[in-house]
Amino acid sequence: MLPHKHTKEGVLNEKLALKKLLTYMKSVYKIPQKIKGLSDERKRKPIPLFNIVMPVLIFLMLQYESFHTIFSAPESMEKRPKNCIRGKIPKVDAVRDLLSRIDPKEIEEIHAQTIDVLKRNRVFREGTIGGYVAAGIDGVELFSSTKKSCPDCLSRKNGTRKTEYFHRSVVGKSPHVIFGQEMLKPRDGSEKDEGELTGAKRLIRHLKKRHGHFADVIMADALYLNAPFINTLKECGLETVIRLKDERRLLFQDAESMFQRNEGRKRSFRKGKKSIEVWDLSGFEIDLTWTIS
Ligand SMILES: [Zn+2]
Repeated sequence: MLPHKHTKEGVLNEKLALKKLLTYMKSVYKIPQKIKGLSDERKRKPIPLFNIVMPVLIFLMLQYESFHTIFSAPESMEKRPKNCIRGKIPKVDAVRDLLSRIDPKEIEEIHAQTIDVLKRNRVFREGTIGGYVAAGIDGVELFSSTKKSCPDCLSRKNGTRKTEYFHRSVVGKSPHVIFGQEMLKPRDGSEKDEGELTGAKRLIRHLKKRHGHFADVIMADALYLNAPFINTLKECGLETVIRLKDERRLLFQDAESMFQRNEGRKRSFRKGKKSIEVWDLSGFEIDLTWTIS
């Protein structure tokens, strides 16, 4: 986490950073208080919910080894689990049992309330680009298995023609904050790209509804150069920046010929080893409805 981890000073810095983090969680975001309010559907509750969920959260934040290792072999972790767990260290089965019973809706609400606080405290206004709050949108695969599956799984054939089950979501994030994520559903479309665009539209509408104007500009890769998606952004009052990689695309070639004619040239500058050139052009021949290819 910190470069001088093994020096006395490093350990102290680490402890201070963790203490500061925990103080913020408690006083500003009220995370521990909200964890205490989660519904506990277990029949037997030998260890309180808080004493399981809070350490799991801290271990995830500190990016410790899997929590399976922590709870199945706490002795291999030196003193670390003991510093975070009050009382008995729960067995890994107890952790798994509790976590699988927690309602994701309740967790999502804690997350949404955290975004509310960040927005209220104008945290997003601190890391702007040219005064704009920028958020990226992209698909991520969460996990996959050929053995286990659930009714919400997406599926595909892997290299050995075996059916592989997986989950994928679309995530909206700024460098330090995840605004939200939308799980892709099997019915979102058989094509990967189709499903991701459907999920992305749902995510943008949901974020707009829950958080209002959460960002100014949405950044995405070429997959999102899609008329219905861009119309969704427009309806929600969002601007967009899309990164094109495929130079064979007609849109790219069209732009290239305008670049060569030096039309709309704005400025050029260097950033590190890269030289960056900026054009401001409109009126491309190809309209967006064509680009769904
Ligand atoms: Zn599943």
